[in-house]
Amino acid sequence: MAHQAVTQLTQKDYKAALQPVWCPGCGDFGVVAAIYQALAKLNLDPDRTMLVSGIGCSSRLPGYVNTYSFNAIHGRAIPIATGIKVANPELTVLAVGGDGDGFAIGTQHFVHAARRNVDITYVCMDNSIYGLTKGHVSPTTPTDEVTKTSPYGNIEAPMNPVLMALACGATFIARSFSAEVKTSVEVIAQAIEHPGFAFVHLISPCPVFRGRQQFDRVKERVRRTPEGFDFTKREQARAIAFEDPNEQITLGLIWRDQRAGYIARQQVIRGKAAAKGTPSYEGLLHSFIPDFGAVGAGR
Ligand code: SF4
Repeated sequence: MAHQAVTQLTQKDYKAALQPVWCPGCGDFGVVAAIYQALAKLNLDPDRTMLVSGIGCSSRLPGYVNTYSFNAIHGRAIPIATGIKVANPELTVLAVGGDGDGFAIGTQHFVHAARRNVDITYVCMDNSIYGLTKGHVSPTTPTDEVTKTSPYGNIEAPMNPVLMALACGATFIARSFSAEVKTSVEVIAQAIEHPGFAFVHLISPCPVFRGRQQFDRVKERVRRTPEGFDFTKREQARAIAFEDPNEQITLGLIWRDQRAGYIARQQVIRGKAAAKGTPSYEGLLHSFIPDFGAVGAGR
């Protein structure tokens, strides 16, 4: 359950004093604007909200948001966010980062967080390139794309993040585009409210290393989920996951499943263990460290 602020906050209240240093035209400006608005829409208490990132241009984002934050090491935003959430389930926890961070070195963490249905929101800002390290091929760079490390065209096939999320058991999957801030606010707010692993694939162009044409190509292909689309129907979600991004890119909520989240399942297990007289982790800790304090006492 997300904690709300005592007073009604506005998006300005979530802006940190630190100013973004992204290049002019970077899609990440649209993403951070959407995050400010989504947090304000839910009126989340900044003192009970946590943003975690890895390494990359987009991983600077938590520093620009007035909540608690943790800038982790490359590819490790998700396991650190998982630990934070499991240790303190009352926090609202978001992990953010780019396609290189999330789908190269961090792939295994994505797979297992989705499978476990950990109650965090993961926003992947996908620019299909490594921007911070100056423009080399990433796991989502399209085939034949010319980059600094593929001067004759990328020979690899790109990863499909939405299809992967579906295959790994994510219970909430949405997609947006950095220029579509209204859609981004809507899906990020829904993701935060979702009990379980919520994945937002947020296409966020890099004009410096993918050129203006990347933005233009996405802009002319995006559409909202069509009239009558049912995000609870797996075959409909699968059809969107398999669509060819060279022809069409569908934005909005793509898939939602009601499978119980990790925290709810953990509470059930704790209840079963307590009924059998098994000491809780906190109780054990207190027995070893009597000064541990009120956290362990009485459990
Ligand atoms: Fe954004 Fe690309 Fe600049 Fe990085 S290099 S800040 S992704 S425009």
